[in-house]
Amino acid sequence: HIPVLCIDGPSASGKGTLAAELAARLGYHLLDSGLLYRLVGLAAERAGLDTAAAALQQPQQAAALGRLAQQLLVRFEQGRVWLGHEDVTDEVRSEAAGMAASRVAVVPEVRAALLDLQRNFRRLPGLVADGRDMGSVIFPDAALKVYLTASAAQRAQRRLWQLQERGESATIKDLLADLEARDERDRSRSAAPLKPAEGALLLDNSALSIEQSVQQVLDWWQA
Ligand code: C5P
Repeated sequence: HIPVLCIDGPSASGKGTLAAELAARLGYHLLDSGLLYRLVGLAAERAGLDTAAAALQQPQQAAALGRLAQQLLVRFEQGRVWLGHEDVTDEVRSEAAGMAASRVAVVPEVRAALLDLQRNFRRLPGLVADGRDMGSVIFPDAALKVYLTASAAQRAQRRLWQLQERGESATIKDLLADLEARDERDRSRSAAPLKPAEGALLLDNSALSIEQSVQQVLDWWQA
């Protein structure tokens, strides 16, 4: 039985940082499931599919996107991400890719296509999985499920720092609007809506350092 630790929660709540640190300390594998949705969004744009929310409500469009997700040619190599022959490591982290991911993630066919891909990350000695539905849908038998939140203001500020590190600029006001649009779409979709999984422990890290959050989760993990 391979242990899994799930970190779910809204956009920019610090899941990625926390999950990566936990995986490093525990010597576990890491699944960044948001990255897969970002790749589907990029692949759709490359294929010329319309990823506007309205277009994706059409059954034919949804089916085409599901097929594309099923055939996703993705490779992870020494910290780089490849989509087919293209190195998309930088682009996949952009705000635009995040918004496209949020739109394609609503489509049930896309979520179904990514099920096995995500579950295949479960390998010895264990897995830390970061996303929205890790504890509720992908790994319901996980040993520990954490639902991570932070205030909207904190999350917008963190997103701004992330983007600035990448050389992108944005205003807090626009980022807040983006975050709220993504969270609303995640919460209101019918397939795997964002909410704490059954049995999840809630952690609000608004006033915590990364180290304090890591320690809290390790305490729960070892309890
Ligand atoms: O976490 P990240 O910002 O990379 O995720 C991008 C988008 O992918 C999210 O806004 C969310 O809509 C979607 N997502 C999802 N389920 C997951 C992970 C991400 O629907 N497990």
